[in-house]
Amino acid sequence: MHIYPDAKTVARALKPDEPVILNRPQAATRAARFFVEKFPGKVLYAVKANPAPDLIEILWNAGVTHYDVASIAEVRLVRASLPEATLCFMHPIKTPSAIREAYFKHGVKTFSLDSIEELEKIVDACRDPETGEEAGDLRLCVRLRVSSEYSELSLASKFGCDLTEAPGLLQQTRQHCDWLGVCFHVGSQAMTPFAFVQALDRTRAAIAEASVVIDMIDVGGGFPSIYPDMEPPPLEDYFAIIAQHFEALPIAYNAELWCEPGRALCAEYSSMIVKVEKRRGNELYINDGAYGALYDAAHVAWRFPVNALEDDLRDPLEDFAFYGPTCDDADYMAGPFALPGDIQAGDYFEIGMLGAYGAAMKTGFNGFGDAEQVIVTDEPMLSLFNGTHVREPTDNVVNLR
Ligand SMILES: *Cc1c(COP(=O)(O)O)cnc(C)c1O
Repeated sequence: MHIYPDAKTVARALKPDEPVILNRPQAATRAARFFVEKFPGKVLYAVKANPAPDLIEILWNAGVTHYDVASIAEVRLVRASLPEATLCFMHPIKTPSAIREAYFKHGVKTFSLDSIEELEKIVDACRDPETGEEAGDLRLCVRLRVSSEYSELSLASKFGCDLTEAPGLLQQTRQHCDWLGVCFHVGSQAMTPFAFVQALDRTRAAIAEASVVIDMIDVGGGFPSIYPDMEPPPLEDYFAIIAQHFEALPIAYNAELWCEPGRALCAEYSSMIVKVEKRRGNELYINDGAYGALYDAAHVAWRFPVNALEDDLRDPLEDFAFYGPTCDDADYMAGPFALPGDIQAGDYFEIGMLGAYGAAMKTGFNGFGDAEQVIVTDEPMLSLFNGTHVREPTDNVVNLR
């Protein structure tokens, strides 16, 4: 990948007709080091947030040794570049062939589940093909359903067993493994550390009721990044509250604490240069959109930061909405996005914070989707890790603005 100082230089040099993804390895390294050094336990990278092989290698070099994978394709992808990484298959619904390949071919021992059917599936898939004997080295995690009420994107309805089922499932699972964990996900972009308090309270109730030995607590992802209308409390607050509530759980004295951040590790990694193809009032027709890296901008009205890259724009900022390049009405991003009032067709601007669930979402729908990738060395448009984001610790912040 070519290296440039910043987005403006890229726009000048390439005058690109297609979107260009700008990657900032230094930002991903900084986020990973922050988590590895400050989180009071083990840090797994949730690969689905951005499976780019370059990023996975950057995180590995920054000290992230464990990876949360959700599909057999993600297992193969990470294993191909990181032969020594520990892979944990944390999707609670897997096919037997995926489990078998992960266990026998890629050395995956850790699997999550939220039902008896999945437990039986895992146990059967990992039996010795000759003797039919059960695997002795499985590490199983029971996924609890927890509330997503403090998060911007819910993960509460699809996966996780209820408090009524959890004790029985924990007891049954314990009979098939020497190492038993409990995991959950509070929803993505959790805007207050209290989200984790509530989930850990629920975990405590499930463990107490089940009366089984628990070897690991995995608090999942949900750690926030920073966006124009979403400025979270410091991540240290999250870590401190999690550590405090973890210590108070009725679990094995040597139990491990894990987390699985996706967004917080990679949001700052990528941004994108787009070109204005046409202007209609305060709507800009641009060359990426709902089927590209701006999936969340279109589908959940996520507001990403934007910055014009032309020197001759003089007007004050105005609010704009965007249309993407496909022929589909749904390819629309309401924003609002603030850009100079005199921006016009042919102009370039940068959209920031697309490293998580952005660059990874690009499809080829309607023939659009190609994007060159380059490296830039400047700061991301927003950052939780460069010291500019200093706020008083607080534990009850939802959408400041
Ligand atoms: C998506 C996901 C994550 C990562 O979530 P973020 O909100 O991006 O931190 C972690 N664990 C599981 C099981 C997930 O599905």
